[in-house]
Order: sequence, then structure tokens, then C-alpha cells
Amino acid sequence: HANRTDELISLTEQSTAHNYHPLPVVITEGTGAWVTDVEGRQYLDCLAAYSAINFGHRNPVIVDAVRAQLERITLTSRAFHHDLLGPFTGQLAALTGKNLVLPMNTGAEAVETGIKVARKWGYEVKGVPEDSATIIVADGNFHGRTISIVSFSTDDAARTHFGPYTPGFHVVPYGDAPALADAIDDTTVAVLIEPIQGEAGVVVPPDGYLSRVRQLCDARGLLFIADEIQSGLGRTGTTFACEYENVVPDLYLLGKALGGGIVPVSAVVGDADVLGVIHPGEHGSTFGGNPLACAAGQAVVEMLHTGEWQARAAELGAHLMDRLQPLVGRGVHDVRGRGLWAGVDIDPALMTGREACEALLAEGILAKDTHGSTIRLAPPLVITPEEIDMAVDALARVLR
Ligand code: PLP
Repeated sequence: HANRTDELISLTEQSTAHNYHPLPVVITEGTGAWVTDVEGRQYLDCLAAYSAINFGHRNPVIVDAVRAQLERITLTSRAFHHDLLGPFTGQLAALTGKNLVLPMNTGAEAVETGIKVARKWGYEVKGVPEDSATIIVADGNFHGRTISIVSFSTDDAARTHFGPYTPGFHVVPYGDAPALADAIDDTTVAVLIEPIQGEAGVVVPPDGYLSRVRQLCDARGLLFIADEIQSGLGRTGTTFACEYENVVPDLYLLGKALGGGIVPVSAVVGDADVLGVIHPGEHGSTFGGNPLACAAGQAVVEMLHTGEWQARAAELGAHLMDRLQPLVGRGVHDVRGRGLWAGVDIDPALMTGREACEALLAEGILAKDTHGSTIRLAPPLVITPEEIDMAVDALARVLR
């Protein structure tokens, strides 16, 4: 019966660049927290497309908004106005407490946009000498795959043989505010960090770090750019992970869940004194802010207004942590996280993270390893406590 799976995987491998190493499952349908493979087997999705599926597969509210928009218009380009851009950006700005939104498509594009904005702001507002602006970033970062972004990656696989690299970045240890303070000089225009590092294995910085970064940016006249592409939009129990320390960055970088898991939608959100440095002709994207993206994004922003999703992530996250903690010492070395987002370091002597995820797959649970022996759990926020129990019970069995 597994023939169809093998056939489709080998077909994929023949004609698709091997830039990923997927688990051996071929998904064909999904609803809520569940997906079905081509053999008709069901799996509980505990990855949620790296948090792009926060609101569940084919969330009916988002699907309805997108379907209705498909009947009207999908793309105008920014050569003309369309009737959804203003409503969407207005609502997204209101959600963040900022006043301007620059819409793009993918996460990496939002990061690139943030870098461009910070440099331009550095020259035109801060007065840094031309071509000397630098941005401080953290080791273990993951901000995407473009040349400039991999230039400041500390992951060899992401970076090796992609040079020459873009200059203008300083890497400091993540979570270390004194090191960051030391790295600031007259060329520094911004600090770009993830408030929780996702790809690094759901690495939560020490308490006080984000507020210290905010203070340093204020004191030294730097922009605080928070990459909330994976951490934002409900995942951590608040709209943004920065809220945990009541910190407001100068620029929010958003993506993933902003498109409701239907279309790629990303954005840079900030105030006019920063984002206002970009004028016509200086930046853009054919698809950025397209009507279909705005329909999806608007539905997502509306869903986040009541706070119910955030509260749900907090509650379910507490349950997930309660269930994961007892596994420490039983095949698990460490568990971290915030909201419905956990990094589980398994005992590398038992098996690799990859092997654990393959075993979980056989148990009907989809999860993905990162950095050797870490399993990331980030199920859609529609998951139930009983389904969380299923996933944790399966993990306990796998590690036994
Ligand atoms: N920033 C963060 C924090 C991410 O986790 C990711 C993707 O995993 C990105 C940026 C890049 O997003 P994309 O893959 O949409 O380019």
C-alpha cells in the first residue's frame, strides 16, 4: 500500500532540487490540526508549517475571505490602488500600535526590507557616514535564505560557499546584553533579533534581555528590529513575543501566519519616522500587498483582535509544558518554550532528532527536528488538550 508514497517521493526527488530532506510522508489533505497522506493515514500536525498554520489548516474564516476575494480580483500590482490594501494595512498597523505597514510576500523579503529601511534611516535620520552602516545580529539566528541574510548566519550549512558575503553585520552572542552593548559603535544603526529563536531550537533569551536591548537602542539611538515572523501572531500566548517583556520594537517583521497558511504574506510594520524613509521607486514587490494577500491578512488580523487565540496559545502551552516536563530524565535532556511552542532536546545517546521524528511519524505525529537532537513542537492553535496528550504520549513511547 505504501507504493503510492514511494512513487510520489521518487518522482519528487527526480525533478526537485534537493534543498530539503522531508520526512517520508506525502500529504494530500488537511483540516484544523490534522492532515491526511496519500495512503489515507491521518497525522496530527505538530509543526504547523513552522507556525504559518497557527489558525489551523484551511481555517474556515480565512478560506471564506480568500474564496470571496478570488471571485473579485487577485492582483493589480502597486501601479494602481486596490480597495483592500488600506483596510488591511490600517488594521495591521492598529494591531501593532504603529502607523505604517510595508507589505511584502515572504519572511526573507520582510527581513531584507527591514535591513534596507534601517540603513536608509541610519544615513538620512541618524547621520551615519555613507556606506558605513552596520547592524548587530545574534549568533544562532535564522532570518531567511537570501545572500545578505545568510551573510550573517552562524550556521555553516546555510552560509558556506555562498560568498562573497554582504558586509555591515556584527554577530554577538544571543541573550547576552553586555556583549551587545560592547558591540555598539558609531556605525551601528540597528539591532536585529528574534525575540525567541525558532530555528535555533525555540531558544528563549534570559528574562530582561529584550527590555535591555530596548534600553540600549534608546540610549544609543538605534532601531530595535524584532523578527516576529515565527514568534508573532499568537504563537507565544501574546500577539507578539516581545510583549512578554512589554517591549515595543521600532520595526516588527511579520510573515508566516500573516497569510493564514494560504498565501505568502509578510510585512514590515513601524512608525512614519522610520518607515517614512522609503519613497516611490526605492523599494517594492510585484505581489506585495496584492488583493488576495490582503484578504487573507485582514482575516488573520481580525481573528487576533479579540485575544482569544493568544489566550488559547497560553493555556494550551501551559498544558503542553506540564506534560513535557516529566519527560526530562526520561529520554529528554531539556524542554523550553513559551506559549504553544516548545523545543525538546532529546538524549542524543538514544537516537537523533531525525530518528525520533521518523518514529513519531509512524505514531501518527508530524514534528520536525532541528540542530541534531532538538524536536520543535508548534501545533496549530486549534489543537485540543487531548490531542496534545496524544502527541506527548507518542513522544514518551518513542523515547522509551
Ligand atoms: N525569520 C524567521 C524568524 C523565520 O523563522 C523564518 C523562517 O523560518 C524567516 C525569517 C524566513 O521566512 P521565509 O521562509 O518565509 O523567507
